[in-house]
Amino acid sequence: MKIAVVGTGYVGLVAGTGFAENGHQVTCVDIDAGRIAALQRGEAPIYEPGLEELLMRNMEEDRLRFTTSVAEAVENSLLVFLCVGTPSGANAAPDLRQVFAAAEAVGSALSGYRIIVSKSTCPVGTADKLKEIIAARTSHPFDVVVNPEFMKEGAAIDDFMRPDRVVVGCQDVRVLEIMRELYAPFLRTGKPFLSMSLRSAELAKYAVNTMLAARISLVNELANIAEVYGADINEIRQALMSDSRLGSAYLFPGLGFGGSCLPKDVAALAELAREKDLPRGIIEAATSTNEAQSRRFVERIKSFYEGGASGKRIAVWGATFKPRTDDLRSAPALEIIDALLAASAAVVVFDPVASKGLRDRYGDKVTVAAKMYDGLQDADGLVIATEWREFHNPDFERMAKIMRCPVIFDGRNLYEPKTMKAHGFTYFSVGRPRA
Ligand code: NAD
Repeated sequence: MKIAVVGTGYVGLVAGTGFAENGHQVTCVDIDAGRIAALQRGEAPIYEPGLEELLMRNMEEDRLRFTTSVAEAVENSLLVFLCVGTPSGANAAPDLRQVFAAAEAVGSALSGYRIIVSKSTCPVGTADKLKEIIAARTSHPFDVVVNPEFMKEGAAIDDFMRPDRVVVGCQDVRVLEIMRELYAPFLRTGKPFLSMSLRSAELAKYAVNTMLAARISLVNELANIAEVYGADINEIRQALMSDSRLGSAYLFPGLGFGGSCLPKDVAALAELAREKDLPRGIIEAATSTNEAQSRRFVERIKSFYEGGASGKRIAVWGATFKPRTDDLRSAPALEIIDALLAASAAVVVFDPVASKGLRDRYGDKVTVAAKMYDGLQDADGLVIATEWREFHNPDFERMAKIMRCPVIFDGRNLYEPKTMKAHGFTYFSVGRPRA
Protein backbone atom coordinates (compact mmCIF):
# COMPACT_ATOMS: atom_id res chain seq x y z
CA MET A 1 0.00 0.00 0.00
CA LYS A 2 1.03 3.62 -0.39
CA ILE A 3 0.94 5.42 2.92
CA ALA A 4 1.48 9.04 3.99
CA VAL A 5 2.44 9.85 7.59
CA VAL A 6 1.97 13.44 8.75
CA GLY A 7 4.27 14.30 11.67
CA THR A 8 7.66 12.65 12.21
CA GLY A 9 7.85 12.68 16.01
CA TYR A 10 8.09 9.57 18.19
CA VAL A 11 4.84 8.09 16.87
CA GLY A 12 4.99 9.16 13.21
CA LEU A 13 8.59 8.11 12.71
CA VAL A 14 8.16 4.73 14.36
CA ALA A 15 4.84 4.05 12.58
CA GLY A 16 6.15 5.18 9.18
CA THR A 17 9.29 3.10 9.56
CA GLY A 18 7.28 0.12 10.83
CA PHE A 19 4.93 0.21 7.85
CA ALA A 20 7.89 0.53 5.44
CA GLU A 21 9.58 -2.42 7.15
CA ASN A 22 6.47 -4.43 6.27
CA GLY A 23 6.93 -3.61 2.60
CA HIS A 24 4.66 -0.59 2.21
CA GLN A 25 5.66 2.55 0.33
CA VAL A 26 5.73 5.30 2.95
CA THR A 27 6.15 9.06 2.60
CA CYS A 28 6.56 10.97 5.86
CA VAL A 29 5.91 14.69 6.00
CA ASP A 30 6.71 17.29 8.67
CA ILE A 31 6.51 21.08 8.88
CA ASP A 32 9.90 21.09 10.61
CA ALA A 33 12.28 21.49 7.65
CA GLY A 34 15.37 20.86 9.80
CA ARG A 35 13.93 17.56 10.97
CA ILE A 36 13.13 16.49 7.42
CA ALA A 37 16.61 17.48 6.20
CA ALA A 38 18.17 15.36 8.97
CA LEU A 39 15.93 12.43 8.12
CA GLN A 40 16.81 12.72 4.43
CA ARG A 41 20.46 12.35 5.50
CA GLY A 42 19.46 9.19 7.40
CA GLU A 43 19.77 10.79 10.85
CA ALA A 44 17.06 10.01 13.43
CA PRO A 45 16.02 13.25 15.17
CA ILE A 46 14.98 11.27 18.27
CA TYR A 47 16.64 8.56 20.32
CA GLU A 48 14.70 5.31 20.09
CA PRO A 49 16.58 2.00 20.24
CA GLY A 50 16.69 0.24 16.85
CA LEU A 51 15.11 3.13 14.95
CA GLU A 52 18.14 4.40 13.03
CA GLU A 53 18.96 0.95 11.65
CA LEU A 54 15.38 0.47 10.40
CA LEU A 55 15.37 3.97 8.95
CA MET A 56 18.55 3.37 6.97
CA ARG A 57 17.41 0.00 5.67
CA ASN A 58 14.03 1.21 4.44
CA MET A 59 15.43 4.42 2.96
CA GLU A 60 18.04 2.39 1.05
CA GLU A 61 15.29 0.10 -0.25
CA ASP A 62 13.41 3.25 -1.33
CA ARG A 63 10.33 2.34 0.70
CA LEU A 64 10.67 5.32 3.05
CA ARG A 65 10.87 8.93 1.95
CA PHE A 66 10.71 12.29 3.71
CA THR A 67 9.31 15.59 2.52
CA THR A 68 7.97 18.90 3.79
CA SER A 69 5.20 18.85 1.15
CA VAL A 70 1.85 17.48 2.34
CA ALA A 71 0.62 17.48 -1.28
CA GLU A 72 3.55 15.29 -2.35
CA ALA A 73 2.99 12.85 0.54
CA VAL A 74 -0.75 12.61 0.03
CA GLU A 75 -0.67 12.52 -3.79
CA ASN A 76 -0.62 8.76 -4.28
CA SER A 77 -1.32 7.48 -0.78
CA LEU A 78 -4.53 5.63 -0.01
CA LEU A 79 -3.92 5.93 3.74
CA VAL A 80 -2.93 9.20 5.40
CA PHE A 81 -1.91 8.88 9.06
CA LEU A 82 -2.08 11.96 11.28
CA CYS A 83 0.68 11.62 13.90
CA VAL A 84 1.11 15.21 15.03
CA GLY A 85 1.40 16.34 18.64
CA THR A 86 -1.48 17.04 21.04
CA PRO A 87 0.38 18.74 23.92
CA SER A 88 -1.31 20.05 27.04
CA GLY A 89 -3.22 23.23 26.32
CA ALA A 90 -3.62 26.36 28.41
CA ASN A 91 -6.27 24.61 30.51
CA ALA A 92 -6.58 20.84 31.11
CA ALA A 93 -7.81 20.09 27.58
CA PRO A 94 -5.12 19.23 25.03
CA ASP A 95 -4.08 21.75 22.42
CA LEU A 96 -5.42 20.39 19.13
CA ARG A 97 -4.01 23.06 16.85
CA GLN A 98 -1.44 20.71 15.26
CA VAL A 99 -4.16 18.15 14.48
CA PHE A 100 -6.54 20.70 12.99
CA ALA A 101 -3.75 22.34 10.94
CA ALA A 102 -2.63 18.94 9.64
CA ALA A 103 -6.25 18.05 8.73
CA GLU A 104 -6.60 21.38 6.90
CA ALA A 105 -3.40 20.76 4.94
CA VAL A 106 -4.44 17.19 4.08
CA GLY A 107 -7.97 18.28 3.12
CA SER A 108 -6.60 20.94 0.76
CA ALA A 109 -4.17 18.44 -0.79
CA LEU A 110 -6.60 15.60 -1.57
CA SER A 111 -6.54 14.56 -5.21
CA GLY A 112 -8.87 11.57 -4.91
CA TYR A 113 -10.44 9.22 -2.35
CA ARG A 114 -8.31 8.86 0.80
CA ILE A 115 -8.60 7.26 4.23
CA ILE A 116 -7.42 9.69 6.90
CA VAL A 117 -6.32 7.84 10.01
CA SER A 118 -5.87 9.77 13.25
CA LYS A 119 -3.13 8.27 15.43
CA SER A 120 -2.81 11.40 17.55
CA THR A 121 -4.40 11.07 20.99
CA CYS A 122 -7.46 13.34 20.89
CA PRO A 123 -10.57 13.94 23.01
CA VAL A 124 -13.83 12.21 22.15
CA GLY A 125 -15.53 13.92 19.23
CA THR A 126 -12.33 15.14 17.53
CA ALA A 127 -12.77 12.72 14.59
CA ASP A 128 -16.14 14.36 13.85
CA LYS A 129 -14.40 17.75 13.79
CA LEU A 130 -11.71 16.36 11.46
CA LYS A 131 -14.44 15.24 9.05
CA GLU A 132 -15.88 18.77 9.04
CA ILE A 133 -12.47 20.40 8.52
CA ILE A 134 -11.54 18.11 5.64
CA ALA A 135 -14.99 18.23 4.00
CA ALA A 136 -14.78 22.04 3.98
CA ARG A 137 -11.59 21.83 1.90
CA THR A 138 -12.21 19.13 -0.66
CA SER A 139 -14.88 17.76 -2.94
CA HIS A 140 -13.16 14.35 -3.05
CA PRO A 141 -14.65 11.52 -1.00
CA PHE A 142 -12.77 10.42 2.14
CA ASP A 143 -13.18 8.44 5.34
CA VAL A 144 -11.85 9.26 8.80
CA VAL A 145 -10.58 6.46 11.05
CA VAL A 146 -9.33 6.62 14.66
CA ASN A 147 -6.37 4.32 15.31
CA PRO A 148 -4.84 5.23 18.69
CA GLU A 149 -1.22 4.33 19.30
CA PHE A 150 -0.15 2.46 22.44
CA MET A 151 3.62 2.26 21.92
CA LYS A 152 5.97 2.99 24.82
CA GLU A 153 8.98 5.18 24.19
CA GLY A 154 12.16 3.17 24.74
CA ALA A 155 10.46 0.05 23.33
CA ALA A 156 8.46 1.77 20.61
CA ILE A 157 9.67 -0.32 17.65
CA ASP A 158 8.90 -3.57 19.40
CA ASP A 159 5.52 -2.30 20.63
CA PHE A 160 4.62 -1.13 17.13
CA MET A 161 5.74 -4.33 15.42
CA ARG A 162 4.13 -6.60 18.04
CA PRO A 163 1.29 -4.63 19.65
CA ASP A 164 -0.89 -6.02 22.45
CA ARG A 165 -3.82 -5.06 20.25
CA VAL A 166 -4.76 -2.76 17.40
CA VAL A 167 -7.74 -0.50 18.04
CA VAL A 168 -9.54 0.85 15.00
CA GLY A 169 -12.46 3.21 15.26
CA CYS A 170 -14.35 2.92 12.00
CA GLN A 171 -17.80 1.92 10.90
CA ASP A 172 -17.29 1.34 7.19
CA VAL A 173 -16.73 -2.36 6.48
CA ARG A 174 -14.59 -1.77 3.37
CA VAL A 175 -12.30 0.65 5.21
CA LEU A 176 -12.13 -1.76 8.12
CA GLU A 177 -10.98 -4.52 5.76
CA ILE A 178 -8.15 -2.27 4.48
CA MET A 179 -7.08 -1.52 8.07
CA ARG A 180 -7.29 -5.21 8.93
CA GLU A 181 -5.10 -6.08 5.94
CA LEU A 182 -2.58 -3.37 6.88
CA TYR A 183 -2.22 -4.62 10.44
CA ALA A 184 -2.47 -8.39 9.81
CA PRO A 185 1.34 -8.91 9.70
CA PHE A 186 1.67 -7.12 13.06
CA LEU A 187 -0.88 -9.40 14.76
CA ARG A 188 0.44 -12.79 13.74
CA THR A 189 0.95 -13.78 17.37
CA GLY A 190 -2.83 -13.81 17.77
CA LYS A 191 -3.21 -10.43 19.43
CA PRO A 192 -6.63 -8.88 18.67
CA PHE A 193 -7.72 -6.39 16.04
CA LEU A 194 -10.45 -4.45 17.84
CA SER A 195 -12.91 -2.53 15.70
CA MET A 196 -15.22 -0.09 17.43
CA SER A 197 -16.91 3.27 17.02
CA LEU A 198 -14.83 6.40 16.46
CA ARG A 199 -15.76 7.68 19.91
CA SER A 200 -14.91 4.41 21.69
CA ALA A 201 -11.52 4.32 19.96
CA GLU A 202 -10.82 7.89 21.04
CA LEU A 203 -11.78 7.12 24.63
CA ALA A 204 -9.98 3.73 24.72
CA LYS A 205 -6.59 5.44 24.52
CA TYR A 206 -7.38 7.73 27.47
CA ALA A 207 -8.81 4.78 29.40
CA VAL A 208 -5.63 2.72 29.07
CA ASN A 209 -3.31 5.57 30.04
CA THR A 210 -5.47 6.61 32.98
CA MET A 211 -5.58 3.03 34.32
CA LEU A 212 -1.78 2.87 34.10
CA ALA A 213 -1.36 6.28 35.71
CA ALA A 214 -3.75 5.43 38.55
CA ARG A 215 -1.83 2.21 39.17
CA ILE A 216 1.48 4.07 39.44
CA SER A 217 -0.03 6.65 41.80
CA LEU A 218 -1.59 3.94 43.93
CA VAL A 219 1.67 2.03 44.27
CA ASN A 220 3.40 5.29 45.20
CA GLU A 221 0.85 5.99 47.92
CA LEU A 222 1.37 2.43 49.21
CA ALA A 223 5.15 3.01 49.14
CA ASN A 224 4.84 6.18 51.20
CA ILE A 225 2.71 4.36 53.79
CA ALA A 226 5.18 1.44 53.87
CA GLU A 227 8.09 3.80 54.41
CA VAL A 228 6.50 5.64 57.33
CA TYR A 229 5.34 2.41 59.01
CA GLY A 230 8.73 0.69 58.64
CA ALA A 231 7.57 -1.81 55.99
CA ASP A 232 9.28 -2.43 52.63
CA ILE A 233 7.36 -1.77 49.41
CA ASN A 234 9.57 -4.25 47.52
CA GLU A 235 8.27 -7.04 49.74
CA ILE A 236 4.73 -5.77 49.33
CA ARG A 237 5.20 -5.68 45.54
CA GLN A 238 5.91 -9.42 45.60
CA ALA A 239 2.49 -9.97 47.15
CA LEU A 240 0.83 -7.68 44.60
CA MET A 241 2.61 -9.09 41.57
CA SER A 242 1.88 -12.72 42.39
CA ASP A 243 -1.85 -12.00 42.35
CA SER A 244 -3.07 -13.07 38.90
CA ARG A 245 -5.83 -10.47 39.09
CA LEU A 246 -3.26 -7.68 39.36
CA GLY A 247 -0.30 -8.73 37.21
CA SER A 248 3.23 -7.38 37.51
CA ALA A 249 3.48 -4.40 35.16
CA TYR A 250 3.46 -0.77 36.29
CA LEU A 251 4.02 -1.60 39.95
CA PHE A 252 7.29 0.24 40.43
CA PRO A 253 7.24 2.88 43.14
CA GLY A 254 9.36 5.93 42.40
CA LEU A 255 9.17 9.54 41.37
CA GLY A 256 5.84 9.14 39.59
CA PHE A 257 4.88 9.06 35.95
CA GLY A 258 6.01 11.58 33.36
CA GLY A 259 6.56 11.77 29.63
CA SER A 260 4.52 13.22 26.84
CA CYS A 261 1.45 11.02 27.30
CA LEU A 262 0.33 9.95 30.78
CA PRO A 263 0.19 13.39 32.46
CA LYS A 264 -1.60 15.10 29.57
CA ASP A 265 -3.92 12.18 28.79
CA VAL A 266 -5.10 11.84 32.40
CA ALA A 267 -5.71 15.59 32.50
CA ALA A 268 -7.62 15.39 29.20
CA LEU A 269 -9.86 12.59 30.48
CA ALA A 270 -10.57 14.50 33.70
CA GLU A 271 -11.51 17.48 31.55
CA LEU A 272 -13.90 15.36 29.45
CA ALA A 273 -15.58 14.24 32.70
CA ARG A 274 -15.63 17.80 34.08
CA GLU A 275 -17.30 19.15 30.93
CA LYS A 276 -20.22 16.77 31.52
CA ASP A 277 -20.15 17.24 35.31
CA LEU A 278 -19.29 13.55 35.87
CA PRO A 279 -17.49 12.12 38.93
CA ARG A 280 -13.73 12.07 38.36
CA GLY A 281 -12.22 11.69 41.85
CA ILE A 282 -9.88 8.79 41.03
CA ILE A 283 -8.81 10.28 37.71
CA GLU A 284 -7.86 13.59 39.34
CA ALA A 285 -6.23 11.84 42.28
CA ALA A 286 -3.92 9.99 39.87
CA THR A 287 -2.54 13.40 38.89
CA SER A 288 -2.48 15.06 42.32
CA THR A 289 -0.76 12.05 43.92
CA ASN A 290 1.76 12.07 41.08
CA GLU A 291 2.55 15.74 41.54
CA ALA A 292 2.92 15.27 45.30
CA GLN A 293 5.36 12.38 44.81
CA SER A 294 8.23 14.43 43.37
CA ARG A 295 7.51 17.29 45.81
CA ARG A 296 7.84 14.81 48.70
CA PHE A 297 11.14 13.57 47.27
CA VAL A 298 12.52 17.11 47.01
CA GLU A 299 11.50 17.84 50.61
CA ARG A 300 13.42 14.75 51.72
CA ILE A 301 16.56 16.00 49.95
CA LYS A 302 16.27 19.51 51.35
CA SER A 303 15.55 18.36 54.90
CA PHE A 304 18.61 16.10 54.93
CA TYR A 305 20.94 19.09 54.97
CA GLU A 306 21.02 21.36 57.97
CA GLY A 307 20.00 24.71 56.50
CA GLY A 308 18.54 23.15 53.34
CA ALA A 309 20.11 22.51 49.93
CA SER A 310 21.40 26.07 49.44
CA GLY A 311 25.03 26.02 48.32
CA LYS A 312 25.10 22.21 48.14
CA ARG A 313 26.49 20.54 45.04
CA ILE A 314 23.93 17.94 44.03
CA ALA A 315 24.57 15.43 41.25
CA VAL A 316 21.58 14.02 39.35
CA TRP A 317 21.80 10.78 37.38
CA GLY A 318 19.14 10.54 34.70
CA ALA A 319 16.89 13.27 33.34
CA THR A 320 14.54 11.57 30.87
CA PHE A 321 11.18 10.36 32.17
CA LYS A 322 12.28 6.75 31.61
CA PRO A 323 15.33 4.95 30.24
CA ARG A 324 15.97 4.27 26.52
CA THR A 325 14.43 7.55 25.36
CA ASP A 326 15.70 11.12 25.00
CA ASP A 327 12.25 12.52 25.77
CA LEU A 328 12.38 15.11 28.55
CA ARG A 329 8.72 16.13 28.34
CA SER A 330 7.17 16.20 31.85
CA ALA A 331 10.09 14.22 33.26
CA PRO A 332 10.00 14.09 37.10
CA ALA A 333 13.78 14.72 37.07
CA LEU A 334 13.18 18.21 35.70
CA GLU A 335 10.87 19.09 38.56
CA ILE A 336 13.53 17.93 40.99
CA ILE A 337 16.25 19.89 39.20
CA ASP A 338 14.01 22.99 39.10
CA ALA A 339 13.27 22.69 42.83
CA LEU A 340 16.96 22.22 43.68
CA LEU A 341 17.88 25.27 41.62
CA ALA A 342 15.11 27.25 43.34
CA ALA A 343 16.67 26.17 46.66
CA SER A 344 20.03 27.62 45.42
CA ALA A 345 21.77 24.27 45.05
CA ALA A 346 24.46 23.79 42.38
CA VAL A 347 23.17 21.01 40.12
CA VAL A 348 25.28 18.70 37.94
CA VAL A 349 23.29 16.35 35.69
CA PHE A 350 24.34 13.28 33.77
CA ASP A 351 22.02 11.56 31.32
CA PRO A 352 23.28 9.09 28.69
CA VAL A 353 21.28 10.60 25.81
CA ALA A 354 19.64 13.87 26.90
CA SER A 355 22.66 16.24 27.19
CA LYS A 356 21.48 18.42 24.30
CA GLY A 357 17.93 18.66 25.63
CA LEU A 358 19.30 19.60 29.06
CA ARG A 359 21.55 22.31 27.61
CA ASP A 360 18.66 23.69 25.55
CA ARG A 361 16.47 23.84 28.63
CA TYR A 362 18.88 25.04 31.29
CA GLY A 363 21.73 26.83 29.47
CA ASP A 364 24.42 27.45 32.08
CA LYS A 365 22.03 27.14 35.06
CA VAL A 366 23.07 23.49 35.48
CA THR A 367 26.31 21.71 34.63
CA VAL A 368 25.75 18.86 32.17
CA ALA A 369 28.32 16.14 32.89
CA ALA A 370 29.74 14.26 29.91
CA LYS A 371 30.41 11.11 31.92
CA MET A 372 28.62 9.32 34.71
CA TYR A 373 31.19 9.89 37.47
CA ASP A 374 32.23 13.41 36.37
CA GLY A 375 29.45 15.13 38.28
CA LEU A 376 30.14 13.24 41.51
CA GLN A 377 33.45 14.96 42.28
CA ASP A 378 32.92 16.86 45.57
CA ALA A 379 29.16 16.26 45.39
CA ASP A 380 27.13 16.73 48.56
CA GLY A 381 24.62 14.16 47.34
CA LEU A 382 23.44 12.09 44.38
CA VAL A 383 19.87 11.92 43.14
CA ILE A 384 18.91 8.98 40.93
CA ALA A 385 16.04 10.11 38.77
CA THR A 386 15.97 7.64 35.83
CA GLU A 387 16.72 3.92 35.93
CA TRP A 388 19.21 3.79 33.03
CA ARG A 389 20.95 0.39 32.92
CA GLU A 390 24.42 1.83 33.59
CA PHE A 391 23.23 3.10 36.97
CA HIS A 392 22.30 -0.38 38.20
CA ASN A 393 25.82 -1.55 39.14
CA PRO A 394 28.07 1.49 39.56
CA ASP A 395 31.48 1.54 41.22
CA PHE A 396 30.32 2.38 44.75
CA GLU A 397 33.87 2.56 46.14
CA ARG A 398 34.86 5.14 43.56
CA MET A 399 31.67 7.08 44.24
CA ALA A 400 32.17 7.12 48.01
CA LYS A 401 35.76 8.33 47.51
CA ILE A 402 34.98 11.27 45.23
CA MET A 403 31.76 12.52 46.84
CA ARG A 404 32.13 15.09 49.60
CA CYS A 405 29.07 13.73 51.38
CA PRO A 406 28.16 10.12 50.48
CA VAL A 407 24.38 10.34 50.45
CA ILE A 408 22.16 8.91 47.73
CA PHE A 409 18.53 9.85 47.16
CA ASP A 410 17.36 7.01 44.95
CA GLY A 411 14.06 7.82 43.24
CA ARG A 412 14.06 4.49 41.38
CA ASN A 413 14.94 1.96 44.10
CA LEU A 414 17.96 0.63 42.20
CA TYR A 415 20.02 -0.58 45.15
CA GLU A 416 19.69 -2.67 48.28
CA PRO A 417 19.68 -0.52 51.43
CA LYS A 418 21.95 -3.01 53.27
CA THR A 419 24.54 -2.98 50.47
CA MET A 420 24.55 0.79 50.44
CA LYS A 421 25.10 0.98 54.18
CA ALA A 422 28.00 -1.47 53.84
CA HIS A 423 29.55 0.84 51.22
CA GLY A 424 29.32 3.74 53.67
CA PHE A 425 26.42 5.60 52.07
CA THR A 426 23.44 7.19 53.68
CA TYR A 427 20.74 5.86 51.40
CA PHE A 428 17.17 6.97 50.86
CA SER A 429 14.82 5.21 48.46
CA VAL A 430 11.04 5.12 47.96
CA GLY A 431 8.92 3.02 50.28
CA ARG A 432 11.85 1.27 51.98
CA PRO A 433 13.67 1.90 55.23
CA ARG A 434 16.48 4.46 55.22
CA ALA A 435 19.97 2.96 55.38
P1 NAD B 1 5.92 14.82 18.70
O1 NAD B 1 5.67 16.15 19.30
O2 NAD B 1 7.17 14.07 19.02
O3 NAD B 1 5.86 14.94 17.11
C1 NAD B 1 4.92 15.67 16.42
C2 NAD B 1 5.51 16.02 15.06
O4 NAD B 1 4.47 16.57 14.24
C3 NAD B 1 6.62 17.08 15.13
O5 NAD B 1 7.76 16.63 14.41
C4 NAD B 1 5.99 18.30 14.46
O6 NAD B 1 6.92 19.12 13.77
C5 NAD B 1 5.03 17.64 13.49
N1 NAD B 1 3.93 18.51 13.05
C6 NAD B 1 3.18 19.35 13.78
N2 NAD B 1 2.23 19.95 13.01
C7 NAD B 1 2.39 19.46 11.78
C8 NAD B 1 1.73 19.66 10.53
N3 NAD B 1 0.70 20.50 10.43
N4 NAD B 1 2.16 18.99 9.44
C9 NAD B 1 3.21 18.15 9.53
N5 NAD B 1 3.88 17.89 10.68
C10 NAD B 1 3.48 18.54 11.78
O7 NAD B 1 4.64 13.95 19.06
P2 NAD B 1 4.59 12.39 19.42
O8 NAD B 1 5.20 12.14 20.75
O9 NAD B 1 5.03 11.61 18.24
O10 NAD B 1 3.01 12.21 19.61
C11 NAD B 1 2.11 12.30 18.53
C12 NAD B 1 0.73 11.92 19.03
O11 NAD B 1 0.72 10.54 19.41
C13 NAD B 1 0.27 12.69 20.26
O12 NAD B 1 -1.12 12.86 20.18
C14 NAD B 1 0.60 11.76 21.41
O13 NAD B 1 -0.23 11.96 22.52
C15 NAD B 1 0.34 10.40 20.79
N6 NAD B 1 1.13 9.31 21.35
C16 NAD B 1 2.44 9.50 21.68
C17 NAD B 1 3.18 8.44 22.18
C18 NAD B 1 4.61 8.63 22.58
O14 NAD B 1 5.15 7.71 23.22
N7 NAD B 1 5.26 9.74 22.26
C19 NAD B 1 2.59 7.16 22.34
C20 NAD B 1 1.26 7.00 21.97
C21 NAD B 1 0.53 8.08 21.47
